[in-house]
Formats: sequence, C-alpha cells, structure tokens
Amino acid sequence: MAEYETHEHDVLVVGAGGAGLRAAIEAAKAGARVGLVCKSLLGKAHTVMAEGGVAAALANVDDRDNWRVHFADTMRGGQYMNNWRMAELHAKEAPDRVRELEAWGAVFDRTPDGRILQRNFGGHKYPRLAHVGDRTGLEMIRTLQDTAVHLGIDVHMECTVVTLLKDGDRIAGAFAYDRERGRFKVFASRAVILATGGIGRAFTITSNSWEYTGDGQSLAYRAGAALQDMEFVQFHPTGMVWPPSVRGILVTEGVRGEGGVLRNKEGRRFMFDDIPENYRTQTADNEEEGWRYVQGDKNARRPPELLTRDHVARCIMREVREGRGSPHGGVFLDISWIKSKISNAPEHIRKKLPSMYHQFKQLADIDITSEPMEVGPTTHYVMGGVRVDGDTQMSTVPGLFAAGESAAGLHGANRLGGNSLSDLLVFGKRAGEYAAKYANENPAASVAADQVDAAARSALEPFERAAREKSAEGPYQVQHALQEMMQELVGIVRREDEMRRALDGIETLKARAARVAVTGNREYNPGWHTALDLPNLLTVSEAVTRSALERKESRGGHFRDDYPDKDPSAGGFNILVTRDADGTMKVSRSPIVPMRDDLKQIVEENK
Ligand SMILES: Cc1cc2nc3c(=O)[nH]c(=O)nc-3n(C[C@H](O)[C@H](O)[C@H](O)COP(=O)(O)OP(=O)(O)OC[C@H]3O[C@@H](n4cnc5c(N)ncnc54)[C@H](O)[C@@H]3O)c2cc1C
Repeated sequence: MAEYETHEHDVLVVGAGGAGLRAAIEAAKAGARVGLVCKSLLGKAHTVMAEGGVAAALANVDDRDNWRVHFADTMRGGQYMNNWRMAELHAKEAPDRVRELEAWGAVFDRTPDGRILQRNFGGHKYPRLAHVGDRTGLEMIRTLQDTAVHLGIDVHMECTVVTLLKDGDRIAGAFAYDRERGRFKVFASRAVILATGGIGRAFTITSNSWEYTGDGQSLAYRAGAALQDMEFVQFHPTGMVWPPSVRGILVTEGVRGEGGVLRNKEGRRFMFDDIPENYRTQTADNEEEGWRYVQGDKNARRPPELLTRDHVARCIMREVREGRGSPHGGVFLDISWIKSKISNAPEHIRKKLPSMYHQFKQLADIDITSEPMEVGPTTHYVMGGVRVDGDTQMSTVPGLFAAGESAAGLHGANRLGGNSLSDLLVFGKRAGEYAAKYANENPAASVAADQVDAAARSALEPFERAAREKSAEGPYQVQHALQEMMQELVGIVRREDEMRRALDGIETLKARAARVAVTGNREYNPGWHTALDLPNLLTVSEAVTRSALERKESRGGHFRDDYPDKDPSAGGFNILVTRDADGTMKVSRSPIVPMRDDLKQIVEENK
C-alpha cells in the first residue's frame, strides 16, 4: 500500500451536520476515540440552513400536546410507512434532546413566562416547533459544535470520503481526500457513522446545498448495505421561483405557520378546495377559523395551508397546470395580508421571519411585509436512505451506522416539517451511543492495502483520462444532464414510461461518467470533486427511479400519474435496493412489521 496519512479511531463520523455532531458528542462521552470528517468547513453543514424549528412535544404553548400526539402525527404524515419504533423513540425522546440543547447553551425564542416558544407547522396538531426566529439550524449547529470541540474530537474539515473500507463483512474504516490539497487520507475505525445528509443535488430545482450529492447512501450501498424507501423524495411546496438564479431556495413553512396564505392568480385561497379525508376533521373550513388557529385559539382548527407538504405541493402544481399560477410558474404566498388583522404587522413579520424578509428583499427585491411572494415546489428532502435498526441505527453491514437525513425509517412516505432537526438529535445520539458500544465490544478491524490502492487509483482516473484523451468530456455536463433528466422524468409527478426512459438515460450517463476527464492539479479542483461526486449522484438517482417504478401507487412524496390512488395492499411493505454480486441494483420488498397494540391504540385515539 502506498503511504498515505492514516488516522485511527474507535468511531469515525462522516458528516458534521446536526446528526454527525450529536453522534460524535455521544460517542466521545462514552469514552470512544472519535474522528469527525466533513466535506465543508465545520459549522457549514446543511443543518445550518434549517429555518423553522425543531419538533418536540414540550407542551409549552399548548398543554394538550404530548409524545402520543406527536407519534400519531408523525405516523399519519408518513402514511404509516414509518418504522414505528423509530417514530415512538423520536416522539418520546425529542423533548429531552431539546432541553439538553438548551442546557448546552442554545438560546431559543421564549414564551412570556420564559419557556421555550413553539410554533405551528404543517401536519403537527399543536404548536410544537421550538425555534430561534427562522434561524434555528444556525443556533443548533453553534451549540453542538461548541459542545463537541470541548470533548476533544479529532476534526478533519474539507475532507471527502470516497470509499468505505471493509474487513470481511464488517466495516474497517474509510478512504478520503482532503479538498484543499487533494491528498489522500486513510481512516481505520472499528465503527463508522454516516451522517452525510440528503440527495437534493440529483435534481435541478432544489433547496439543498452543493454537499447533498447522496454520498452516504451511495457509500453504504457500495459497501453492501440496503437502502430503503428511496422513492419517497419530498418536494417542499414553497421554494423561490423568481429570479431564475435563486429558483429552488427554500421559503420556510414558518411563513404559513405565522399566518401566510396561498393564493392563485385570481386571488383565491385554493387550499380550501381539496382537503384530504384523513385530515378533514382537523382542518378549518373557513378563513376566519384558520386565522384564529394561527393566533393560538385552541378551539380552532388549522388552516389548509398547514396540511402536509406532499399535499400542498400537489395543489400548487394543479393550480399552475390549470393556468391559475403566478407569472413565473408558481403561486402567491402572502404574509403581508395580516396587516388587516394586527396593527404592527410589518414589524411582527420582520421579527418572526427575519431571514425570509432579507432573502426576498435582497434576492428578488420583494418586501414581504407589503407584497406577496411567488413560490413553487422544490426538491427538499429524502425520506428514504440507509436501512437501519430503529434502536441502534446500525445498517445491515456490521459496524456501519447511519443517522439523520442519510438514514431511512422515521418519516415513512412524507416527513413533517421540524421532524428532521429532532431526528438528528434523537438518532444522532443513539447512533453515537451504539457505535461506541460496538467499537468497545469488537476488536480493531484490519485495513486491506488492496482496497486502499484501488480506491486511490479510481479517484485519480479522471486526471489520467485527461492526459490520454484530449477531447474527453468534463464532469459538469454529465451532472447537469442527470439533474435535468431526474427533474423532468422522476420529479413530483411520475409515470412508468418516463421512468423507464430515465433508467435508460442513467445507463448512458453512467457510461459518460466513467469517461469524464479533469484537467489541472489536485489542489482545490472543483472539477475533480464533481467527477468524484458523479457516481454517488448516479447511484441514488437509479435507486430513486427503480424504487419509484416498483411502488405502483401514490403515497406521501411519491405521486404516480398512472397510479394516482393509494393502494392499501402496497402499505404493507418497504422497498429495498441492494447491490447484487454482479454489481447490478436489485429491488425487493420487505414486509413492514405490524405495529405494537399499544401504539395502534394511540393512532386510533388520535384519528
Ligand atoms: C433551507 C432548509 C431549511 C430547513 N429547515 C428545516 C427546519 O426548520 N426543521 C427541520 O426539522 N428540518 C429542516 N430542514 C431539513 C434539515 O435541515 C436537514 O434534513 C438536516 O439538517 C440534515 O442534517 P444531517 O445532519 O443529516 O446532514 P447535514 O446537516 O447536511 O450534514 C451533512 C454533513 O455531511 C458532510 N458530508 C457529506 N458527504 C460527505 C462525504 N462524502 N465525506 C465527508 N463528509 C461528507 C457534509 O459536509 C456535512 O458536514 C431544512 C432544510 C433546508 C435545505
């Protein structure tokens, strides 16, 4: 094996967002030697962009809230495809994780009597999102990072893992390159936790940052782990649509939680036109009641703008398709209308939604305190991911764990807003705890020289191709073609014939990706980085497409134009993809374990 910088850890955490940091803290507290690797600078993970808040049944604003209601809301939102054990642990443990964050120094917004303030969000029966204005993720990352650095965790910033290393069946570590110098690093580790976030960059219109190229899902898949429910991609209803350079940037659901309403070009609040049967009893049937709800009236039901994201996104698409959209292909989201209800509306909006105010002022020259915003769906989140055990977060590969957005299970077919930040805290902690336990109970694995050499050779190929073939294609064209194709053929509305075309397209793009070349040297070379991201984007795109073909129904984030209804018989299984011995992707169905009786009763009681 060539000589590379080598590090040894008990637990290696890949990713320094909320899930990775929380996992690293827990593993370090358990006495493990912890390494933390992240693609960008520490503190710049995607979690920092989270706006609306973290969901936890603290019952600070509405004392009717408790873990049972949160559990039932999460299961209903996920259309009962969730790993119910994870939904149970999440609902029970989220309040403690939020209070712990507060004890570590997070400064939440407050109720008049000094408790953590909670706001309304789609699909949550009661105000449940602990928040810091619309900058909750920033505060969360700051707090977790402060806590982590004081525990002596070994941090490797701007370092990208490209391959997981194995010793027989179990995990042995990871192979990475440092982005600044382009040098390789070998991490030998008894346990590895993937906390790499989502896959949004497989699509053109997305709220996700450049880091979200599906690395964790793809690394796990290539290491032999199963991916689950990859068809369930969340298209958030409200992304910016104008100007084109900012298309897809998120407009937080907090706008609707604070009273923002959706209107079509005729000025009609179209969300009242289509209220799903399973939410009818919980949804206001007139505008006045909806307003009373956002003002905290416990006898009012929530406005239809706060229905689940999958439903709101489809209603927006319907308005646009039927010619009632806004000038730039979206609809109008208006918070300025609350001036007819409260006297200090502009000041109130700027206080509750400071980032949104600045975002629209600076990027679109719109003052949201006096004008409506134009919004439309944007690829936001993936509910699917690495299949894990609900209690321990271990994947189907011994010693390999996953937490946060890279893992599957908690959210089922559709995630409720706010349930991601709480997911990171609850299951980040659990992953850290159980990875440290695994490392403690298992001997060190050995790193095989041939695996390291093969990984290094493969990583350098794009440079060698440039030297060999002067006219070889660059990585950006392939990336762009993939994003356009996924957006068009496997996006918010899906059909069999289009997805078959996408599969053919993915094969063609795989062949092109295998021939891309990059010039220049290894020091901070974004073309090279993109060339190395491509296989991951292609793997997750194929997993999404094959899983979406297999699910012949519409449910949650997955909508099939050719199967527009929910099929009760399809509610009994998750879809898995695994890598076959010949390297092809295999799709299978895994029956969902029936829910425990006590949990079933909670679901019934909360219908
Ligand atoms: C604009 C926006 C607003 C949101 N608002 C909310 C909200 O209000 N409430 C809520 O619950 N959810 C919200 N979400 C969703 C939520 O923020 C994310 O799901 C969550 O932050 C994901 O956290 P994570 O720890 O799993 O991953 P991330 O925070 O993305 O961290 C991923 C980490 O992995 C690293 N990484 C990736 N690949 C590699 C690799 N190959 N090698 C090394 N490191 C790697 C990255 O550098 C990064 O450090 C929002 C999302 C967006 C985009």
